[in-house]
Amino acid sequence: MLHSLGFIAATDGNLSVRLDENRILVTPTGMSKGMMTPSDLVVVDIQGRKIKGKRQVTSEIGMHLLIYRMRPDIRGIVHAHPRTATGFAAAGMALNQPLVCEVVIGLGLIPLAPYGTPGTPELAATLEPLIPQYDAILMANHGVVTYGSDLQSAYMKMETVEHFAQIALVTHVLGQQKPLECEDLKKLVAVRSRYLGVNSAAPMPVYAGNNGDSAEEPVSVKSVRSHTIHHRRGNAFPREN
Ligand SMILES: [Zn+2]
Repeated sequence: MLHSLGFIAATDGNLSVRLDENRILVTPTGMSKGMMTPSDLVVVDIQGRKIKGKRQVTSEIGMHLLIYRMRPDIRGIVHAHPRTATGFAAAGMALNQPLVCEVVIGLGLIPLAPYGTPGTPELAATLEPLIPQYDAILMANHGVVTYGSDLQSAYMKMETVEHFAQIALVTHVLGQQKPLECEDLKKLVAVRSRYLGVNSAAPMPVYAGNNGDSAEEPVSVKSVRSHTIHHRRGNAFPREN
């Protein structure tokens, strides 16, 4: 599905599933995910050492292992380069405006991690402060990573991020954005926990009114994970009046 939707080109992207406490099923390096068969998959332990498989493991295994170590609730991870969301990441823009209610419920805001060289510990380090609180992260000048309680949920979040990025782009083309207001955001946070499968603790910005003024502290759900992230205001969309 990632391949057919154009979320990855050539041999881009990687996916993994936590099989049990010590085993991760993961995609191989240097292979189109559209041509992959089950026998191409690799099994590694939680340190990244290969247990099973004829191919070499993805070079981004460090990022996957970090997420599994930091988030015991996570059992599936998807990394891809969908065009629009990656465009935002390449423009240095987080998807942090509450423009669509479903995205607020499902993901909160989608932060932008600073750039880190792919396949090195630097990349995992840029994501580390964001992993406890977010289930979807833009990676500057690179792509997107999403994760969930299983692979399908991680994949759905990738679709949501790209779809939302396209909607946000349309608001820029139209030259106008009207983010949800503070009171409506609070109501969405309140209903969030009632949606099956939504356990994200991701906060979202508070909007005082339609003029788009944001307060410093984001609205947050009762802290499942208490880690606090302070967003750089420089990441916000340029305001258009
Ligand atoms: Zn990548």
